[in-house]
Formats: sequence, structure tokens, C-alpha cells
Amino acid sequence: MLIYGTRSAHLATKKLQRPTCQSCNTKGEIVMGLYRKHVHAFWIPLFPYKKTAVSECGHCKHTIEKKEFNEELNEEYRRIKEHSKGPVWQFSGLLLIALLIAYGSYASNQDKANELLYLGQPEVGDVYSYVMEEGNYSTFKITSVSTDSVFFILNDYEISRASKIYKINKEENYSDAEASLAKSELDSMYKNNDIIDIIRD
Ligand SMILES: [Zn+2]
Repeated sequence: MLIYGTRSAHLATKKLQRPTCQSCNTKGEIVMGLYRKHVHAFWIPLFPYKKTAVSECGHCKHTIEKKEFNEELNEEYRRIKEHSKGPVWQFSGLLLIALLIAYGSYASNQDKANELLYLGQPEVGDVYSYVMEEGNYSTFKITSVSTDSVFFILNDYEISRASKIYKINKEENYSDAEASLAKSELDSMYKNNDIIDIIRD
């Protein structure tokens, strides 16, 4: 269940000299409080979306919401609003999401860079995850490398989800029969996205 809604942060409180209370006609007793609303999810502020205000007469305690302000109060509101910045923490959720996206893209770029490195310089023990013709996934493990070819043993198992490949990548699942590929073939498999991951310990 997602719990979300809006909450407010207090920005400023000002006593107003000019306006007269619409209820008791006292002048100079109205206090205006400014707030900025933000959307929250599980009480984590996501982003602010609007400012609002409420006024209270210090004499008769009559309060007025922003939507009922007369022109005089609206003018005071605009003046105070100009000098009241909302707190940065109201952007926490957006900042957090931006950080996660930045980290995710950094990590995935790093993965790609590593894979190209591994592909260019294959090493014994490298495990390649690949897409099989029927759409399942399996792996092969490099056992030796020559100038232009790699030799490997195939995994006897396959699995239908790429994210579960780690479940079949076990020592005892590899057969003894060795096969080989030219490095250029390995390159084109990678370029065709038939190789989806290269794991090096
Ligand atoms: Zn009043």
C-alpha cells in the first residue's frame, strides 16, 4: 500500500501593519503565516507544488484562508511570498530519485566498459551468459585462450529468465566437452546482443 498525500512546511510569519480585520475592524493586528505544500510518499517529501497562506487577527482570532483573501491581503501575501524561499528538504524525494538514476546509469556504463575490456582480453574462468535459439539463457566458461580463438565448456542447464542465470552458473553444471569460437565470432555475438553478460571474478 502506497501512503501519499500533501503536507506543508512553514515559511514565514509576518505581522501586517496596514490591513484592517474584516471581522472586528482592528487595524495592524493581522498576522499572516506562509506555507509551501509538498507531495509526500510515506512521509518522504517528494516535491513542493504551491505556496499558500492563512491570516489571523490577533484581536478577535478570526482566521482567513488564502482563497478568501481580499485584494489587500493578497497584496501582502505576494509581497511576503517574494522574500520567502521554501526549504530544500521539500525536494528530498526528487533529489533521491535523481541520485538513484545517476548511480544506475553510472553502474550500467561501468558494466559495459568492463564487458568490452573482458571481450578484448578473454581470460580463463570468464563466464559468458548468452541467449539460446529457443530464447532460454545459458552460460559457457572459458578454459583456454589462443591468439584468435577461445575454448570453453558449456553449461548443461538453461533457464528462462536472464535475471536468474546466477542459479545455473555452478561448477558442477559444466560439461567436460570443450568447444571453441573465433574471437571475431565472440565479438559479433556480443554486438548482436546474443551475449548478455560477461562475469569475471
Ligand atoms: Zn479581528
